[in-house]
Amino acid sequence: MPEDLDPFDIALQQLRKAADVMKLDKQAVELLSSPKAILQVSIPVKMDNGETKVFTGFRVRYNNARGPAKGGIRFHPDETLSTVKALSAWMTWKTAITNLPLGGSKGGIICDPKKLSLGELERLSRGYIRAVADFIGPEIDIPAPDVYTTPQIMAWMMDEYETIVRHSAPGVITGKPVELWGSLGRGDATARGGMYVLREAARTINMDLSKAKVAIQGFGNAGQFAVKLVSEIFKSKVVAVSDTKGGIYAESGIDYEKLLAHKQKTGSVQNYPGSKNITNEELLELGVDVLIPAAIENQLRGDNANKIKAKLILELANGPTTPEADEIFFKKNILLLPDFLSNSGGVTVSYFEWVQNSEGYYWTEEEVHEKLDRKMTEATHSVLDAAKKYKVDPRTAAYTVSVKRVLDAMKLRGWL
Ligand code: NAD
Repeated sequence: MPEDLDPFDIALQQLRKAADVMKLDKQAVELLSSPKAILQVSIPVKMDNGETKVFTGFRVRYNNARGPAKGGIRFHPDETLSTVKALSAWMTWKTAITNLPLGGSKGGIICDPKKLSLGELERLSRGYIRAVADFIGPEIDIPAPDVYTTPQIMAWMMDEYETIVRHSAPGVITGKPVELWGSLGRGDATARGGMYVLREAARTINMDLSKAKVAIQGFGNAGQFAVKLVSEIFKSKVVAVSDTKGGIYAESGIDYEKLLAHKQKTGSVQNYPGSKNITNEELLELGVDVLIPAAIENQLRGDNANKIKAKLILELANGPTTPEADEIFFKKNILLLPDFLSNSGGVTVSYFEWVQNSEGYYWTEEEVHEKLDRKMTEATHSVLDAAKKYKVDPRTAAYTVSVKRVLDAMKLRGWL
């Protein structure tokens, strides 16, 4: 991966490209180019061996013109402020694209959760909430799970917050276990939302998804449910899947349940019976109809974009495509459905959770799916319509939609 791809620089580059298309004035771009507030905290944690270790955490509130800020918390050894800033900007555009009454934020702790005991993980999670408690709240900023954070961590965090404020406040955090007022349908929401985007986009290019071959990079939460749902909903044929250890290719198609069992047994998708092992690079370059990057950032770059053969790319991962690759795909007429549209199903169901928490009234899974479908369908068409209007790639088009919504709110508030 090229070293010089600072995530926040990429986020700003994308914003400026949209700002040029929209002919925004300098002042508006300036206001949209920096977070509203940044909090860095030190979290002392009593480790199991009796020593105290100090962890660094961040919470960045990018924009709250449209409502309380919303964004996940990542636990990662390579976490940086720049990554958190970039992700908080992307959350702002993501909540706006599905027209949620929310802003954007993100949080993170520099830590390796795999090296922490359950008790240490709980103390770290609670310590983070004690450190950021004044900065978050159901009407201020609402965290959620992200990389290496789980519903259990959300439950500890909610409990710690409620202990501090001394009243029930389930809406302070989303992605909670269903037993503690999480929403039904949150588990597969990101991939499911992506499927609705895929369905609408495929229609516009007359792609018959029941005959489509699909390659999916990543077999975690987003990737696994993508494998399951694309076969289940559209009867598409998933021919390739990968994880950190590498990928597999099977011309006759890959069965979700069997692959899941294989991964659980062996710890990897590789050596799945009836398939041949391939590399992650090879997976991206396969002759498929739909490519779904669902793993990590910067996978589709200037150096491999010309080798991509898929007609449609559904970005379930955050930031899998660099600006250089974006340009190449646009020129090659490859329809790329950008991350903050394609993976916004997760935050949309998180929003549904927050709404249900505030009402104290809970929806069925069918209701969640139906409401999610409506939100994603509307968002997809707003992006595809803007792409036509401005004659730009869908990422820039998505920016124009979100940026306009955020700017309108800022102007009405008198911020510029
Ligand atoms: P996860 O940790 O559950 O899974 C990540 C997967 O990617 C794993 O299968 C891992 O083996 C694989 N992977 C890691 N490095 C890889 C590499 N170099 N090459 C190939 N595969 C690799 O994470 P997730 O929740 O599925 O998230 C995946 C992406 O989707 C991230 O970019 C995340 O930000 C984005 N996303 C996820 C959600 C969600 O609700 N889960 C929501 C929005 C965006």
